[in-house]
Amino acid sequence: MKIVVTGGAGFIGSNLVRALTDLPRVTEVVAVDDLSTGALDNLLDLPARLVTGTILDPAVLDEAMSGAASVVHLGALGSVPRSIDDPLRSHHANATGTLMVLEAVRRHRVPQLVLASSSSVYGANPVLPRQEALRPIPVSPYAVSKLATEAYAVAYASCYGMDVLPFRFFNVYGPRQASNHAYAAVVPRFVSAALEGRPLQVHGDGTQTRDFTYVGSVTSVIVEAILRRVSSPDVVNLAFGARISLLELIAELERVLGRRLEVVHGPPRAGDVRDSQADCSRLRELFPAPRRYSIREGLEATVAWMSQRGLVRR
Ligand code: NAD
Repeated sequence: MKIVVTGGAGFIGSNLVRALTDLPRVTEVVAVDDLSTGALDNLLDLPARLVTGTILDPAVLDEAMSGAASVVHLGALGSVPRSIDDPLRSHHANATGTLMVLEAVRRHRVPQLVLASSSSVYGANPVLPRQEALRPIPVSPYAVSKLATEAYAVAYASCYGMDVLPFRFFNVYGPRQASNHAYAAVVPRFVSAALEGRPLQVHGDGTQTRDFTYVGSVTSVIVEAILRRVSSPDVVNLAFGARISLLELIAELERVLGRRLEVVHGPPRAGDVRDSQADCSRLRELFPAPRRYSIREGLEATVAWMSQRGLVRR
């Protein structure tokens, strides 16, 4: 069984490649990545092939996809602030890139496509928890590009009879998530600042909430989806409805590290949503017993990885 992972050198992608290469039924794993935000290091020592290039190039996708049983499409430019700085670049990678992947999946008659949208599509819709049928009100170019990602997948399933599984991820965190660039996500930013003894920078008062999801929970659902060939004509939240505030996240990190952390507050950021929490009923219908890690387990693993890699000094 051959599996292709776009964005396979990125954070979630490389964790998934790692999990897939451990499975006896999976005989070949191919990562496609242009290394724009991903890193070769993430795939070091893994028995996977990397096709280096952009998903915007059909030849790159053709080289990777021939004979694949499933494609997991994670390749994208993440980050709300990045998309505000350069909306066209995010649109090309995320919206046009998805269309290119869908076309390649169709050309190669790949039996299953799993892909990543984002909870950011709910945007300014105030209703919690986020149920998939809620009206999306995206408030950033990134969110619009992810809405296009999932909408194209749903449309291709309908028009061409493709088996797709579009997920909405919610603040995924864990080992191999980049902490060292301007658009880094909140968990790696906090953990690296804490380990380096710098103050934690909070945008706003810190009472904004997120449904933090450990990457191991995400990859185990995707692995199960591949092995059982799960598909869905509609988008599915991939999170567990455990909303906590940034201040609660910091308190948990303090418990993991066994010390108090200094926090500095700045102004709220444009494009950020106020609260986020998944309704996971649809996920539970498709995956009745997903492997779910607590925030404590997830933070411990993240701290351990960052410390071990010597990325930061404790
Ligand atoms: P990441 O930046 O670590 O991984 C994305 C990968 O895609 C990178 O390796 C990057 O080099 C690659 N890439 C970007 N543009 C490409 C292109 N044109 N061609 C080929 N490769 C390209 O991000 P991640 O957190 O692992 O995100 C994976 C997916 O999950 C993305 O689609 C993202 O939008 C989605 N998502 C992530 C989160 C999260 O909290 N991490 C939340 C919601 C959705």
